[in-house]
Amino acid sequence: MNLNLEISKLKGVGPKTAEALNRCGIYTILDLLLYLPRDYEFINNEFSLEDFIEAEKYSIKCKFISVKSSLRVKNGKNLTTLIFNNGRYEIIGKWFNQPYIKNNFKKDEEVFLLGKVKVVNNRIEMINPIISKNLLQEREIIAKYSLRDAITNKTISKLIHLILDTIKIKENLPINLVKKYNLVSLDDAIRNIHFPESSDALKKSMNRLKFQELFTYSLKLLTIKEHLRNEKQGINFVMTQELSMFKECLPFQLTGAQNRAVREILMDQKRSYPMNRLVQGDVGSGKTIVAFIAAFNVYFNGYQVAFMAPTEILAEQHYQEALKLFEKFNVKVHLLTGSTKTANKNLIKEKLKNGEAAIVIGTHALIEDNVVFSNLGLVITDEQHRFGVNQRGKLINKNQAADVLVMSATPIPRTLALYLYNDLDISIIDELPPGRKKIETEYYNSSNRQQGYYKALEELKKGRQAYIVCPLIEENEKLDLRSIETLYEELKNTYFAGFSVAILHGKMNSKEKEEIMKEFKDGNINVLLATTVIEVGVNVPNASVMIIENAERFGLSQLHQLRGRVGRGQYQSYCILIAKAENNITRKRMEIMTKSNDGFFISEQDMKLRGTGMIFGTKQHGDTGFMIADVLRDGNILRAANIEAGLVYSSSRKEDILIKGEIIKQIEVSEKYICFN
Ligand code: ADP
Ligand code: MG
Repeated sequence: MNLNLEISKLKGVGPKTAEALNRCGIYTILDLLLYLPRDYEFINNEFSLEDFIEAEKYSIKCKFISVKSSLRVKNGKNLTTLIFNNGRYEIIGKWFNQPYIKNNFKKDEEVFLLGKVKVVNNRIEMINPIISKNLLQEREIIAKYSLRDAITNKTISKLIHLILDTIKIKENLPINLVKKYNLVSLDDAIRNIHFPESSDALKKSMNRLKFQELFTYSLKLLTIKEHLRNEKQGINFVMTQELSMFKECLPFQLTGAQNRAVREILMDQKRSYPMNRLVQGDVGSGKTIVAFIAAFNVYFNGYQVAFMAPTEILAEQHYQEALKLFEKFNVKVHLLTGSTKTANKNLIKEKLKNGEAAIVIGTHALIEDNVVFSNLGLVITDEQHRFGVNQRGKLINKNQAADVLVMSATPIPRTLALYLYNDLDISIIDELPPGRKKIETEYYNSSNRQQGYYKALEELKKGRQAYIVCPLIEENEKLDLRSIETLYEELKNTYFAGFSVAILHGKMNSKEKEEIMKEFKDGNINVLLATTVIEVGVNVPNASVMIIENAERFGLSQLHQLRGRVGRGQYQSYCILIAKAENNITRKRMEIMTKSNDGFFISEQDMKLRGTGMIFGTKQHGDTGFMIADVLRDGNILRAANIEAGLVYSSSRKEDILIKGEIIKQIEVSEKYICFN
């Protein structure tokens, strides 16, 4: 079977299923194999009162003893209570509205009960457990995928099973590395990631794929680095006269750190090899203006600038800001996103091609293959952690000589930055604009959530605005949407009655999103209830409250990013975390947030906590752009992969790594790409 075969060609996949899979980003067989579980469900076959875990499921083999009762309870429901015994414990099974269940058993008959276990008054209870006469489940660990539409875990498992039955996946790491790090084979890893034989096998598979992902990533960085350093003649930009005028009419004075970053960038611009620089600065540190200064100078050198943002909202915001800043200098700016009307899009593309258009701000649409630049001089990517290194590579391929400037607010510990951004020079903006007040952060258990809303209300009455962010829980999109809509109805009619409340989520089209953002910016909307579409970059200085619902579901960097949406003006701002503190780790994480406003500190603490946290689940902290690696936790793997990639890179022929000048894909299973043996 060809791994690049379209998913719709697979037996048993009809057009509807294919379409739904496409919406999950699955187009080929390879995509499906790399559609990694979001989480795992552990089913334990051993139960003991001393060390059972309430959140997990147990399958308990026991004997039926007797019917305790079957009676009507509240709301006309029927409750049937049966007693079982497994030789060690008495187990009370309770079923709602299944009175017939009591007729199913003979005394002393052996059955399996499957479900969660509760201990109530020293008695072991299972509510609505599944009953089976034979061992129900084949496996103890069951993969759970991110689901959409009609796709179920079963559909995905079945299809993957079908594929794995017919193929054996070829090893594609150098054999000496597999041995040196005791890695399981790629074939084993893919099988066990979907159908774990044991938690040990699962862990080994994850490690193998993490290594692979970080190794491939490191190789790509080296490729990019070499291209920029050795193979390309850069453009020798000069400092233009307009630039000094521009710096004089900025709406504010630059901070020392901003000035330093600007200086470093301008030095790079003068050099004979292309710039490849990361500007790293905490949220609100003022990275945008630094990028605009760089863009401005390139423009007056007569070259084009492409400025990419991760979301349309952000692209639109940068566009508006650029219009204002550049107006006096007659610099024309264009906006090109997925929702730009086709006619307009074509016009802009035409102008980029013939050189009429010079500065273009946009989303991923900018790197589509059919966007051609006549003389691209600078590529800026904002919030780089959201872009894969692939996109960066693609843009580099667009012009041999263009400078590259990436901006990131994800402060990662310095020890990791070295490996993660191995290809980049780094400017750090470690100073906030003057007059910023520390954002007061409070944390409430979900049972006290109303206190958070009251806090917001106080601010609204002073004329401020508030964000409320809900995470997507991913299990079921429609349910998520319903839950945010329910919250919307509730808030608008109770706490925030009399204020204008609006809702913003990823399912809305760009036009709607844009309008709502504009209304919020203009102050016509007081409370914006949103999913994480507002996570990065959005700038509304009058907003002074950020409420984050289900804060336990976010990574700390993400919380810090979200919090960074407030405290961007002169007002004292507040961040309210509403979390279900199920365990100590959640509580500790929330405490880190209340204690510190320093992104670097938070990220370091996060790294420490993750070292002690749960190991499984791949997408919980999906904020670094990796499929499976969690760089804050997998620092050791990152370091090893980085070193090994360096060795392989320097010793192999480039054609082995680069195929047709394209930068290789993230985790490669296909033999079409890297293949060393
Ligand atoms: P980020 O680094 O998070 O991208 P922005 O570039 O969006 O931050 O800047 C945040 C806010 O701070 C913006 O409103 C911007 O105009 C303002 N700002 C940036 N630099 C300064 C400065 N030196 N003095 C005052 N305000 C500034
Ligand atoms: Mg920004």
